[in-house]
Amino acid sequence: MQTRNLIGGEWVGALSGAEFDVVDPATDEVIARAPDCGAAETARAIEGAAAAQRAWREVTAGERAAALRAFADLMRRDRDRLGALMTREQGKPLAEARGEIDYAASFLEWSGEEAKRLYGETIPASARDKRILVLRQPVGVACAITPWNFPSAMITRKLGPALACGCAMVVKPAEDTPLSAIALAELGLEAGLPPALFSVVTGDAAKIGGAMLAHPLVRALSFTGSTEVGRVLMRGGSERIVRMSLELGGHAPFIVFEDADVDRAVEAAVANKLRNGGQTCICANRFLVHESVREAFVSGLVREMGEIRVGHGVDEASRVGPLINDAAIEKVERHVRDALEKGATLRCGGERVRPGPGLADRFYAPTVLEGVTGEMLVSREETFGPVAPVRTFTDEDEAVSIANDSEYGLAAYFFTRDASRLMRVAEALEFGVVGANDALPSTAQAPFGGVKQSGLGREGGRHGMDEYTEVKYVSWGL
Ligand code: NAP
Repeated sequence: MQTRNLIGGEWVGALSGAEFDVVDPATDEVIARAPDCGAAETARAIEGAAAAQRAWREVTAGERAAALRAFADLMRRDRDRLGALMTREQGKPLAEARGEIDYAASFLEWSGEEAKRLYGETIPASARDKRILVLRQPVGVACAITPWNFPSAMITRKLGPALACGCAMVVKPAEDTPLSAIALAELGLEAGLPPALFSVVTGDAAKIGGAMLAHPLVRALSFTGSTEVGRVLMRGGSERIVRMSLELGGHAPFIVFEDADVDRAVEAAVANKLRNGGQTCICANRFLVHESVREAFVSGLVREMGEIRVGHGVDEASRVGPLINDAAIEKVERHVRDALEKGATLRCGGERVRPGPGLADRFYAPTVLEGVTGEMLVSREETFGPVAPVRTFTDEDEAVSIANDSEYGLAAYFFTRDASRLMRVAEALEFGVVGANDALPSTAQAPFGGVKQSGLGREGGRHGMDEYTEVKYVSWGL
């Protein structure tokens, strides 16, 4: 299958005619070819977006909301088709892929509704003959660079608020998952969006990203991906002082206190850890368990993880699909090997599995490691795979101090039945998202984002709208 990009309202290939392969990570089969674009195509998309945005910013909030609602409805109408496409290019099981389509649609719908509440302010002035008005205006053309692990939702979490606020957007999806992004562009047109308002440009990341940062019409860049690339973009954006929001890596702690409902914590741990095969930025990476409930928690985890079916995402029975590429599974192996060499104990998993004939060697068994210490790689770096490393603690201060001992600050989870502890620990954790007796916190209405090296800015909720609006005040002399 040959695909095209939607650039400035037209379906086109790369100017050079170059393309790259899109590969199914479960089978290594080439499933499509996508345009290998660079700086010139990006500039064209930005200039088209700027022209479209001049008209879009005049459209009423109600009309913008209706367009975003129509877009969300089309995604839901095509849930099965979009989910199947996502499973082919990304590997996640079909049920998860369809769930992501609904989740992605919810950002379009919710942001559209919020467009109606982009209120300004009036502020009491210091002189009798003055009035102060505060206006919220669209920033203009915003660009987005998104990762492969949530090929639809990481786009709509940016696109929804951008369009709702009256901005235009140019998106560069990950090289591994261009098809879901192109499918979104088709649905946007079907929903009646002005053709050049939302462009998708696939291809060379450094050239496209560089062109986005250099173009004088670009007012904001929203990036989701690794901290390393976030730093590169921040440096690049410093030249033109591009407004930037960064959703970067994480290294989530998951604390189980001695007074926790351990069965509930086990169930939540498995759902969180194995979502997308462990390849999410908010997957628990460090399980910190009070010594007194260690065996109850670990044996529950081993029992539940052991029952998980690893397999091809298109098989409805699979709960964990392949890792995205060879580098990803090699990293998981390196982390597990390092932990075992440094004294951890393997309670289950710890190896690749071959769930069926004709499948790539990229599936990893859900794994539980016990006796983990702070020196191990699993305690310091994102593993991005189905590995649960368990470390113990003896009191609350120690648990919080281990949890906060990370350069990352995206998500943290803890389980307790003590209400005072719940508030104390929630306040003490240095993370942007805290799940207290909850390990699935992501939702369209809440402000999602990190502190420390996990990023800048928030996505979702009314706070997510701030990234796409400028605050202007008018000092009005009477
Ligand atoms: P990545 O390597 O940083 O890639 C993310 C995006 O950046 C891709 O579109 C990639 O393009 C592009 N990119 C790479 N180098 C670039 C450059 N020099 N200039 C401009 N763009 C560039 O991250 P990933 O491996 O795809 O995703 C995993 C990471 O994302 C993890 O660290 C995870 O925690 C994080 N993540 C964070 C969140 C969050 O909300 N905080 C959500 C999901 C994932 P190519 O694919 O074409 O190289």
